[in-house]
Amino acid sequence: MLDVAECTRNPGTQYRFEEEQAIAPQRITGDEITFDPVRMQGYFEADEDGNVTVDGSLAVLAHGHCANCLSETESMVEGSFRETFMRDGDPEDDEIFSYSGHEVSLEKLALTYIMLNLPMRFLCREGCVGLLTYAQGQAEPLTQKDESGRFPFAGLKDLLGEDHV
Ligand SMILES: [Zn+2]
Repeated sequence: MLDVAECTRNPGTQYRFEEEQAIAPQRITGDEITFDPVRMQGYFEADEDGNVTVDGSLAVLAHGHCANCLSETESMVEGSFRETFMRDGDPEDDEIFSYSGHEVSLEKLALTYIMLNLPMRFLCREGCVGLLTYAQGQAEPLTQKDESGRFPFAGLKDLLGEDHV
């Protein structure tokens, strides 16, 4: 939460901030991602109309599960932002950031930029094959049939044929 009372009395003057912002867990592609407090820092500045521009960076440790082996894992998410909070703008409008009174909440800003910078999939380590190992084991017999010149799925066709006899 930024107190912008002084800042809006002095348009064009930059004020430094450093904040920790809590954000709620997010459900993403079946996994619940939880977050440590988001570390945010930068500058904010008001214009003549009282709109406040916040410019800075954020970093947060996000906790989820490895997409391949499902073990608990975490990922450091970082990003930078520059957004203008419209004074008395519509808080229901998702297209803008807004505030009223003399406090600017950084929660929506933090969540927006974390989601933008969150990895598509969490991995416990680079190259984790996890459950894929099992699938690769199954693929081996097909490869051998392939080398003997047979159509890879010929064996499967034979099996199905036997079932019908
Ligand atoms: Zn893994």
